[in-house]
Amino acid sequence: MTRLIFLGAPGAGKGTQAQRLSAESQVPHISTGDILRTAVAKQTDLGKKAAHYMNAGELVPDDLILDLIRERLGQADATNGWILDGFPRNVSQANFLDGLLEEIQQPCDFVLNLDVPDEVLVTRLLSRGRQDDTEAVIRNRLAVYREQTEPLIDFYRGRQQLVSVNGNQPMDAVTAELKRVIAA
Ligand code: AMP
Repeated sequence: MTRLIFLGAPGAGKGTQAQRLSAESQVPHISTGDILRTAVAKQTDLGKKAAHYMNAGELVPDDLILDLIRERLGQADATNGWILDGFPRNVSQANFLDGLLEEIQQPCDFVLNLDVPDEVLVTRLLSRGRQDDTEAVIRNRLAVYREQTEPLIDFYRGRQQLVSVNGNQPMDAVTAELKRVIAA
């Protein structure tokens, strides 16, 4: 059983590492960013409401995200574990997730924080070339991360669930370290 939450700034490698651990552990990789990008591409109601926040590097309002997570964690493939990537993104989402996990009796095993220096993040994001990876938007996403998401490190550290891993090393080395952590 693997139930993990990934924390880390944009560009820290959460998506790549979450995907690798998901393949290894055979549990779904749940990325709110991917879900939102699909909704934008399909021009669903959610996508239409979310696009403008995403393009500005702002967080999408909680009321668009919380039901989506409740529904996704309730799906059949998530009963035996999951890896969350990009959720929670602020303290109110983390409080919501606490309540939800208690309600569905699925406690998380680890909160994994990928630690990467700012200058490396900016270089990585600029080379990624995603639609929301222009320099001004990147700067805003990093500011939003510092302000709203980074406080979650202390939120989870207080309960000794948090493990920080150096994300500024080759991808395989990061994966190996993460595997050691979750096998422990
Ligand atoms: P990501 O792929 O995780 O970097 O997410 C891309 C964008 O989707 C973010 O910049 C936000 O606009 C939005 N987003 C993803 N996850 C969340 C979330 N949990 N809460 C609010 N907005 C989110």
